[in-house]
Amino acid sequence: MIKPSAPLINPPTNQDISTSSGDNRMSSEYEKFDLAIVGAGPVGLITALAAAYTGCKDSHQKQLQIALIGPKPSAIALNRDTRTTAFMHPSLKMLSNLAILEKIETEAAPLKELRMIDDTAGLLRAPDCHFTSLELDLPYFALNIPNADLNRALIEMVSQASAIRWIETEEVSKVTSEDEQVSINTREGKMITAPFCIGADGRNSICRQAAEIETDTWSYDQTAIACGFTHQLPHNAVSIEIHRPTGPLTLIPLKEHHASLVWSLKPAEAEQMVKLDDNGFIEALNKASLGFYGQINTVAKRVAFPIKGMSLKKLAAKRIALVGEAAHIVPPIGAQGMNMGLMDAACLCDAIQQSPDYAQFPSNLVESYNTIRHRDVARRSKTIDLLNKSLLVDYLPFKAARTVGLTLLKQLTPLRRLVMQQGMGTPLETSSYHGESLPTLMQDPAAETAYASQS
Ligand SMILES: Cc1cc2nc3c(=O)[nH]c(=O)nc-3n(C[C@H](O)[C@H](O)[C@H](O)COP(=O)(O)OP(=O)(O)OC[C@H]3O[C@@H](n4cnc5c(N)ncnc54)[C@H](O)[C@@H]3O)c2cc1C
Repeated sequence: MIKPSAPLINPPTNQDISTSSGDNRMSSEYEKFDLAIVGAGPVGLITALAAAYTGCKDSHQKQLQIALIGPKPSAIALNRDTRTTAFMHPSLKMLSNLAILEKIETEAAPLKELRMIDDTAGLLRAPDCHFTSLELDLPYFALNIPNADLNRALIEMVSQASAIRWIETEEVSKVTSEDEQVSINTREGKMITAPFCIGADGRNSICRQAAEIETDTWSYDQTAIACGFTHQLPHNAVSIEIHRPTGPLTLIPLKEHHASLVWSLKPAEAEQMVKLDDNGFIEALNKASLGFYGQINTVAKRVAFPIKGMSLKKLAAKRIALVGEAAHIVPPIGAQGMNMGLMDAACLCDAIQQSPDYAQFPSNLVESYNTIRHRDVARRSKTIDLLNKSLLVDYLPFKAARTVGLTLLKQLTPLRRLVMQQGMGTPLETSSYHGESLPTLMQDPAAETAYASQS
């Protein structure tokens, strides 16, 4: 496995590490910060590290003091996330630049090939498609990393970063965008203010409500079961996406004979399936996985995730910017959701760098983030939505379009290369990103040049 580039942003030194009491909770009922981040899921944690480690500074060239506000998950809650994330190259560069990747790469497995198999049993069966990273001169498309390991590493890093104060709360109960600041109230009666707030608080975001952004949400009548399993044959770093009438069943390589599963089913069917004992589930999975990894030997705990979609008219308003699932929800096809969240964070860091006086003129930052990020999010979400619907909707023109599309993909190398590049996270509208294809934190020599002058 080729190691992504070495970290270019210094990890925290001993001096950076807060050793005061080991307790990050606030002592007072009211505190003021330079930047508030609500929600400590993976995207919120990475956004906090990105903002802190890239040295986001205010107009007085002072390191921003960041409040991260949200519950800290227990060990049990961490293990409840049975998903893995396939991080594409731009995200891997960002994780590497932030010195996160080195903490988790022992758990990472490369994905070198992707096979898409049509098992919809329809008249218009699409051809099988085979993508290999070598077509892009890359050793692998992505590294697959268990969410529980990722989150554990992120929590440790955030807890050690002196620029970040983790304000633990059961939940934020109120967010108010005012003329000169955003006020954030916690369930325990604390109040935090900051001139700008990042909402990383997931699909039911309270920050999104406070920003009053027009939101369109829908359900796919689909639930995905995610779990780990072991199997008989070597997976050879090949991910298998089997398109079935209820959605895709995806086998994603982990280390050695381990892999992860994302299996989209009708909600009632998924409910029955998670109730099966190990043997019953293995039997069903053996049938549906078409023997690609050989016999399934063992399965770990199964967790069901209802599949939704959400798109927003814009990503920021009223001193509040949204990242991750607070900003977009897409079905788990093509491993896009978390990668989009990291792209949000990297773009927002650039926008903050370009708006050092955002406390006085927040509209510049809001506008800049919307310009950099909204179009890519909207188009990528639409593409994933159509791909998912083409499997679910029993409507002939949809099926025909999918078959034609996959046939073209199979036959036309330039088209296949383009789709692979886009799928790997290159913004669809590269020109919208000031002529650069990727934000600073996702570039190879990373932030060194862009941010060094400000250190
Ligand atoms: C089955 C499945 C497989 C997937 N596989 C991939 C993949 O391979 N690649 C990929 O890129 N993406 C993948 N995704 C998508 C990815 O998992 C999500 O995009 C990602 O987890 C979203 O992270 P987040 O931090 O934005 O949201 P969340 O993980 O939902 O975090 C939100 C956080 O905000 C907190 N919060 C909520 N409300 C409040 C409040 N009022 N006050 C304070 N805190 C609050 C919550 O406690 C939580 O900690 C997959 C998704 C599914 C369902």
